[in-house]
Amino acid sequence: MIDPFGRHISYLRVSVTDRCDFRCVYCMAEDMTFLPKAEVLSLEELERLCTAFVRRGVKKLRMTGGEPLVRKNVMSLFRGLGRHLESGALEELTLTTNGSQLAKYAQELADIGVRRVNVSMDTLDPDKFRELTRWGDLDQVMRGLDAAQRAGLAIKINAVALRGVNDMEFERLIRWSHGRGMDLVFIEVMPMGEIGESARLDQYLPLSLARADIAKKFTLTDSDYRTGGPARYFKVEETGGRLGFITPLTHNFCESCNRVRLTCTGTLYMCLGQEDAADLRGPLRASESDEILDQAITAAIARKPKGHDFIIDRRHTGPAVPRHMSVTGG
Ligand code: SAM
Ligand code: SF4
Repeated sequence: MIDPFGRHISYLRVSVTDRCDFRCVYCMAEDMTFLPKAEVLSLEELERLCTAFVRRGVKKLRMTGGEPLVRKNVMSLFRGLGRHLESGALEELTLTTNGSQLAKYAQELADIGVRRVNVSMDTLDPDKFRELTRWGDLDQVMRGLDAAQRAGLAIKINAVALRGVNDMEFERLIRWSHGRGMDLVFIEVMPMGEIGESARLDQYLPLSLARADIAKKFTLTDSDYRTGGPARYFKVEETGGRLGFITPLTHNFCESCNRVRLTCTGTLYMCLGQEDAADLRGPLRASESDEILDQAITAAIARKPKGHDFIIDRRHTGPAVPRHMSVTGG
């Protein structure tokens, strides 16, 4: 699949549920209204949709959410998609998780063929963790990380950079994750979804500043390591580990965007930062053969926009995009 700007679409991110067992303050309001179950695709339908994309040349699938591992029976979806790893049609099957259920599922994921997981963790302080996630338990996530490492999964820690909240912990996060052999990626907070507070502007920390600060304590050497994602990586000479930065607001990464995003209702977003979307649930359910679905996918890819226009400034404190990150899965 090639879009109108010549970009090869080889990466599909799938939000398998909009639900979550955490309520991270930058992601969700405390009293979220979730989708009625009837609107959500069944796991079989999700598998059929993903399979259609794999047939069209998608090489990398990432399951996300909401929290992908809280969806009932989600392992049956992973097992089904694992077949495409075995056949070689798919190069990578992976997930982004808050880690709360990893202790339970890490070994099974590894057995299915998952090699890497992204685990979101913004702080190493249990009280702050509880505050940030509202409902999360840091110990439980730590047990998840232990289980994932025992199962042989490579881990990348994602930390959203929040001014005045975790910026004083960056050095500790770097030493801790690299000490455990995990990559660390800092993410700039994105203006998505009403989150029930006008704190967005206060939370926003440009990563260019964070990086300059980190560079005072560590030697950052440019690295051409890529994971197919938008992160820019550095080697930290003092720890030998890898440190990435995802900077949607200060650095426009759209030129190399190779991805599209599917929600759990079968809506395909061609860009995280734009509202235009294509319904694939109708075409999926219209027929048992995939012909109509394939046509809908082709038409959607032909509409992939050139880029996003996120902006956080004093005139724009509301969300640039009204849907929450848990809908399109980050
Ligand atoms: N629940 C899983 C998790 O937390 O990893 C997967 C879904 S979560 C929406 C995916 C990623 O998006 C997480 O790393 C989270 O920190 C990040 N995220 C959520 N809201 C964000 C926002 N407003 N700006 C930047 N990143 C955000
Ligand atoms: Fe849940 Fe992930 Fe959003 Fe936190 S960032 S509320 S864990 S979906």
